[in-house]
Formats: sequence, C-alpha cells, structure tokens
Amino acid sequence: MARGTRRTQVARVTEHGGGVWSIPVPIPDNPLGYTLVHLLDTDRGPVLIDTGWDDPTAWDTLTAGLAACGASVSDVHGVLVTHHHPDHHGLSGQVREASGAWIAMHAADAEVVRRTREAEPTSWLDYLAEKLAVVGAPEDHLAPLRAARASGRAAALPRGRPAQPDREIVPGELLDLPGRRMRAIWTPGHTPGHVCLHLEETHPAAGEDAPGHGRLFSGDHLLPEISPHIGLYEDPDDATVTDPLGDYLDSLERVIALDPAEVLPAHQYAFTDAPGRVRALLRHHEERLAGLRTLLVDRPLTPWQLAEAMEWNRPWAQIPHGSRTIAVSEAEAHLRRLVKLGRAEAVPGSNPVRYQAI
Ligand SMILES: [Zn+2]
Ligand SMILES: [Zn+2]
Repeated sequence: MARGTRRTQVARVTEHGGGVWSIPVPIPDNPLGYTLVHLLDTDRGPVLIDTGWDDPTAWDTLTAGLAACGASVSDVHGVLVTHHHPDHHGLSGQVREASGAWIAMHAADAEVVRRTREAEPTSWLDYLAEKLAVVGAPEDHLAPLRAARASGRAAALPRGRPAQPDREIVPGELLDLPGRRMRAIWTPGHTPGHVCLHLEETHPAAGEDAPGHGRLFSGDHLLPEISPHIGLYEDPDDATVTDPLGDYLDSLERVIALDPAEVLPAHQYAFTDAPGRVRALLRHHEERLAGLRTLLVDRPLTPWQLAEAMEWNRPWAQIPHGSRTIAVSEAEAHLRRLVKLGRAEAVPGSNPVRYQAI
C-alpha cells in the first residue's frame, strides 16, 4: 500500500487499447479507494496483473469487471503479481481456485509470502514488539501488542494467509505469455521483490511523434500523485544489511532508462511522462533526506522520535496505532540511507538506538 493524498473519483472499467483493460477493485476502508487490476489478453486467455483485496465486494467487482471486458474469471490463464501486498495479491488464491490459473511473483516477495504463511501469530507479535522497543517506541505503543499476545487475539495479525505462488517472475526475461511481448523489471524498494512489467509492443495510440517505448505496468513503484511507502523489509533476520530506500531510488532510475510511452499504475490513473514523474520523486526524497538529517543536528534522536518529528499527512497525535508502526519503519529506512551515505551514524552504546548527523 501507499501513503498519500485522499482522492475520490468514480472509477470504472477502462479499455486502454491493444488488448489491455483496467478494473478498479475497491479496497475497504482505505483512502486509496481501489486497486487497478489490469487484464491483458493473450492467445491462451486473459492474464491478470494483480487481483485486489480479499473481500466479497472486491471479488464481485472483479468478476463483474471481467464480464465487462468480455471475459469470465474461469477463463483466466495466469496471474502476475507486482508485489505481495494484500491490495495486490489478496484475491489471487480465489482466482486460481475459480480458473486453475498459475500465480507468478518475484522470488523475494514469494519468500515474504512463505514466511507470512508459516509465522505463528504470537511469534509475529513478539518480533514486532521487540523491534519497536529497540527503536524507542514508548510503553503506550507496546502495551496493546503485549495485550494482544497475552489474549491470543488473532485480530492483531497484520493479514491472513496469502496464496503461495506457483511460478517465479524472473527479472529481465520475457514472460511466457503467448502472443505478447512483456518483460519483468525488478524494482525493489516498496517491497524486496516488487516488479514492474514492461509491455514492449508499440503503444496502440502511437502516432508519428509519440515519444517513449511501450507501456509499463508499474504496480506501486510509480504512481502519478503518491509517493509509495518505503519502510524496512519485514524480515526478522535482517539486522542492518538492506537499504530499501536506496533500492527504491535505484529502481526509479531504471524506469527512466525504459522510457515508457505510458504508465499503467495499480492506483489512481494512467499517465505519461514517466521520466518527469521519476525526477520529481528523486527530488522529493533528496529534500526529505536533507530535512531529516537537519533534525539530527541539534540532538541525537531515536527512530521513534524522528518519526514523531517528520511531516505526515496529519498530526502525529491523530495517527492511529498501526500507521505509527508503519511510520517508524519509514523513519528507519531513511536513517539507514543516511548512514549508508555517511551523513548520519548511530550513537555508540545507545539503547534504544539514537542517531546523530555527521
Ligand atoms: Zn498498493
Ligand atoms: Zn504496496
């Protein structure tokens, strides 16, 4: 999921030409509103790019949307998942049950799915509480997690059991889609195994002077008005190795090199000028990193204190519990980038850990 502006617009099934449609599938109680599930016609039948949130209304919307495209869910040949988040992968299992379709995902996100499926609710809560204590979360944030663990409440789980994919999306390779030419581009950052899918065929509206090459299904990597959430990868074994924000910035540059004529994202709406949008996001992150480093000049801060001091779409006091957990993960991702760049460092021996500017 991504954090961003509240936007309400009536969205409906859109034919994009050249055997591509988008179906807006609602996400319950979420300001994003919907996931744009894309349908790509192939010689073996329709292939879906993402499936939407696991919810009865979403399922009804998806099946009605397929009918509006002249297809049925039982015809679906395959499901390509841009990343493991539940607003993208939620209904994949149900689509597979209804059609016998394969589900494909990048290996790094398939690994996250495997861990999620195997994790015991209590061990997940232990992991979360310990991780948050280390970064300076106050007692009033940790108490509900401890209470949930003590009561064994499954509701505290971040998600249900996502479907295990059958196939791996291998970056750089052409996908096995009869009659189509589409290549997977690995774009880690928002998740470790996020992929964009580049439909290399000429854009159907390409005139004499249409710039760019083909169309890019960008998932949550590149959205027209939202900067996607970049936190730490949810890996209990990760100590200080990964740098998701660094990965994300590199992945943005990868999109500039592709120079697609049009971007078909998983939220909001299709747009052109991908390089312009990428440059705006690179600027945004550069300014944000510089701003955060400034906050570390006066006194060292824990990741939690930094999250409190950062600018969000509402005051910290109004941010609910679950979103604060996500916010502190975003603060940590920025700290990790600053450390890798040599612009901040952990204060030796501090517990909880504090960071200072260099
Ligand atoms: Zn999303
Ligand atoms: Zn996402």
